[in-house]
Amino acid sequence: MQNQIIEKLEAIVGEKWVDTDSERVLSYSLESTNDNYSLVAPEPVSGSVVVKAADSEEIAAVLKFANQEKINVIARGAGTALAANTIPDQESIILSLERLDKILEIDEENMLLKAEAAVSLGDIIEELKSNDHLYFPLHPGDEGAQAGGMVAMNAGGVRAVKHGIMRNQILGMKVVLPTGEIVHYGGSKGKLLKNNAGYDLMQLLIGSEGTLGVITEVSLKLYPEPKANGTLIVAFNDRRDAFGAVPAILKRGIIPMALEYVEKDEIELAAADIGKKWPAENGEYFLIIMLSEAKEDDLFEIGAQIDEITAEFEAVDMLIAQSISERKDILDIRSHILPAITDKIVDSPDVTVPRGSLLEYLDKLNEIEAKYKTKCPVIAHAGDGNLHVIILKEDGEKPSYFTEIKEDIYQSAVDIGGTITGEHGIGKLRQDYLSMMYSKRELEIMKQIKSAFDPNNILNAGRSI
Ligand SMILES: Cc1cc2nc3c(=O)[nH]c(=O)nc-3n(C[C@H](O)[C@H](O)[C@H](O)COP(=O)(O)OP(=O)(O)OC[C@H]3O[C@@H](n4cnc5c(N)ncnc54)[C@H](O)[C@@H]3O)c2cc1C
Repeated sequence: MQNQIIEKLEAIVGEKWVDTDSERVLSYSLESTNDNYSLVAPEPVSGSVVVKAADSEEIAAVLKFANQEKINVIARGAGTALAANTIPDQESIILSLERLDKILEIDEENMLLKAEAAVSLGDIIEELKSNDHLYFPLHPGDEGAQAGGMVAMNAGGVRAVKHGIMRNQILGMKVVLPTGEIVHYGGSKGKLLKNNAGYDLMQLLIGSEGTLGVITEVSLKLYPEPKANGTLIVAFNDRRDAFGAVPAILKRGIIPMALEYVEKDEIELAAADIGKKWPAENGEYFLIIMLSEAKEDDLFEIGAQIDEITAEFEAVDMLIAQSISERKDILDIRSHILPAITDKIVDSPDVTVPRGSLLEYLDKLNEIEAKYKTKCPVIAHAGDGNLHVIILKEDGEKPSYFTEIKEDIYQSAVDIGGTITGEHGIGKLRQDYLSMMYSKRELEIMKQIKSAFDPNNILNAGRSI
């Protein structure tokens, strides 16, 4: 990056907050994609500069300057996204949000928590521990993920069945546009439950993967803390039975907090990796069902109903975890699957299908496995119809059929009304597959929206669309 650009950036944020040291810049250029999908993650292009702005005003000045000079800017949260979302593919200003790290307000009347962009999920959980009646339900696997990053990715994760994904949790936000203006969505206070005035630009920002604006503050919905919580593990010997039970449970009117699907090899590895034991001794395939209810009695009643329903699907065992530590262990083990199997996998497309089509997708997956003579383990947010289909390494390498199998995994989902990604977004890894989902005209409209927000294409250029 040229000296006069560095000097101008230093004049905006202060010399201390502009970093050109190549090793440190590299650490801001790599993300979880490089750790977990090292065989498919792109290498970062060198020559970028890390800028740590203090607030929305400094970010506005940085963006105004970058827009004028047509320099690419990458908003950087915790770097935990998994589709090469923040790895620079050209010399860029890596705009780290890390100094925007304050929880600004817990508004009990409006049941919301207002946070600056870099407040992490872990910070939110910690802050709400001292609040005995309000909580934030969502839990995408990595608690380091930041509020801004979770909004920009429209994150989901476990515990989205009852209250929905990130898109359903946002009451307002403050955003710096690529042209340097600061705007507020969700009313000037960011506290609105309803707003039908014009197009919903806030919803456009959610899931925009850092391409339309830099989110600097968000207001997150809080919910009354449920009084009775329990986690069930239901074991099956057949993958079809486990998936078949999912719509049957929901059809009965049972709305768990989480309805996850895991397989024995991966969950046992995850448990061992963090020094714990997976509690289920029987079965090969498991549903983890997290329940949160108003009363203990409801918990037992629902547990009995789930026992009855899953028995119809040949369940071979059911375990109940009620203590806080047992429930936390199960969530921790579940959240650790990806890091535990990292050295075995190439990629893990996170296709999503209509929940009622889970079995249809499984049948297609069986055909794919047979076609390539391989096994694709599945981890699923089954209650959301969201499957992470794992493509395994062969002899430690990317298999020769990698491109074809990935395409089949995506196409089979799209063919039955699904999507190529329900969580991890497009980034660089899935750009080539967007045309499976959208017509030329639809893609053109997306490009026009990008251009309306970002006429010089400086924000995360070449990514997402
Ligand atoms: C082990 C593991 C498990 C995971 N499990 C889940 C899961 O279950 N569900 C799920 O949905 N995700 C999951 N993820 C993915 C990831 O945690 C989420 O996508 C998360 O929301 C990313 O947040 P981040 O702060 O790390 O963002 P980053 O990775 O830093 O950035 C992601 C994208 O958002 C943009 N961005 C970041 N901050 C801002 C901002 N303030 N304003 C504008 N754009 C911004 C970036 O430019 C980039 O395009 C998992 C990741 C890991 C490593």
